[in-house]
Amino acid sequence: MKEIYLDNAATTVMSEKAMDAMEECMRECWANPSSLHLSGQRAAAKVEEARDIIAEVIGASPDEIIFTSGATESNNLAIRGYVSSYGAGLVTQETEHPSVINTAKYLIGQGTDVRVIPVDENGMPAEDFGTVIESFNGSPVLVSVMHTNNETGYLLPVKDIADTVHALGGAFHCDAVQALGKVPLDVKRLGTDMLSASAHKFHGPKGTGFLYVKSGISLKGITMGGEQERSLRPGTVNTPAIWAMAAALREAADEMDRASGRMKRLKEMLKTSLSESIPGIHVNGAAGETNCCTLNVSFPGAGADMLLYALDREGLRVSAGSACSAGSLEISHVIRAMGAEKYGAPIRYSLSRYTTEEEILCAARITAEVYKRLLQQA
Ligand code: PMP
Repeated sequence: MKEIYLDNAATTVMSEKAMDAMEECMRECWANPSSLHLSGQRAAAKVEEARDIIAEVIGASPDEIIFTSGATESNNLAIRGYVSSYGAGLVTQETEHPSVINTAKYLIGQGTDVRVIPVDENGMPAEDFGTVIESFNGSPVLVSVMHTNNETGYLLPVKDIADTVHALGGAFHCDAVQALGKVPLDVKRLGTDMLSASAHKFHGPKGTGFLYVKSGISLKGITMGGEQERSLRPGTVNTPAIWAMAAALREAADEMDRASGRMKRLKEMLKTSLSESIPGIHVNGAAGETNCCTLNVSFPGAGADMLLYALDREGLRVSAGSACSAGSLEISHVIRAMGAEKYGAPIRYSLSRYTTEEEILCAARITAEVYKRLLQQA
């Protein structure tokens, strides 16, 4: 049976270039980049070259990039590191990733002033950020809002939010995990003070990522250890993964225009095909602007678990929401926050630049067949 992988928001396959870069580095630059001998310095040079490449792609300067184990760590470091360093309050919104939501809950337990803004049925923040920030009466505030939602693909108005935050003297952090490599992201143009990313979402390796921290911002580290990554991320630096991440990001940036146009067309094709063959489906977040590669569809009268298992048996790999939520077969906090549970079982299809038209047509056909069969059995 042919396998159709449409779960790229959970993770992507590594590109050939990234795999080659990783292998080359594992063979030739495996020494500890913190070692002073020549082998160590060769590895350190690779890490710095990777930092240059990543900085260039996002319009930062190399000393503004901190390598981490991925966006979960980056989000924790950005938020907890800022709040602890500046004694700041936190403003975020309801449909953030668990690495932000659970950090916010942790901070509430620590006595931090935290406000979580609800969203409307389209996934847009339902309160004015300016009013919320003003209610802090001039105390330091960090606002953390994601660029693109991982479950529905909707785009948050981060540039506008960043402008509002800065006009009121706050700082802005953006979780750009689902955007980097898919849309042009320049930290200066976006106006973000910090930005989180994970390599495995843009065809790089898992377990590596970075945090952009604008020069002048001083974070307090959240892990105790050595002095790697300016003591903000102690631990032996993972040279091969970092080198492969840089290769993957460079490649994604080079292919971006062509790839995002193609994915957009295929996503539209999937939406049209599903809507024509299954009356009554609801596309979650469709009223707003969504990205080029994530389609979240609710199927009335079906259970998400049954539907997911049945699709998987036919070789179609999709998901019911974020892979990061415990018990991801339960209706996710994002769908609930949008009040979209009433539309039925939500299924997320997420494409990559390797997705083909044939796969999309096949995915739509399998979904229609499986869904109709499930309804007959009900
Ligand atoms: N933020 C978002 C929006 C994500 O989609 C993810 C991954 N699902 C993360 C943060 C966390 O990334 P990682 O699991 O690589 O730490």
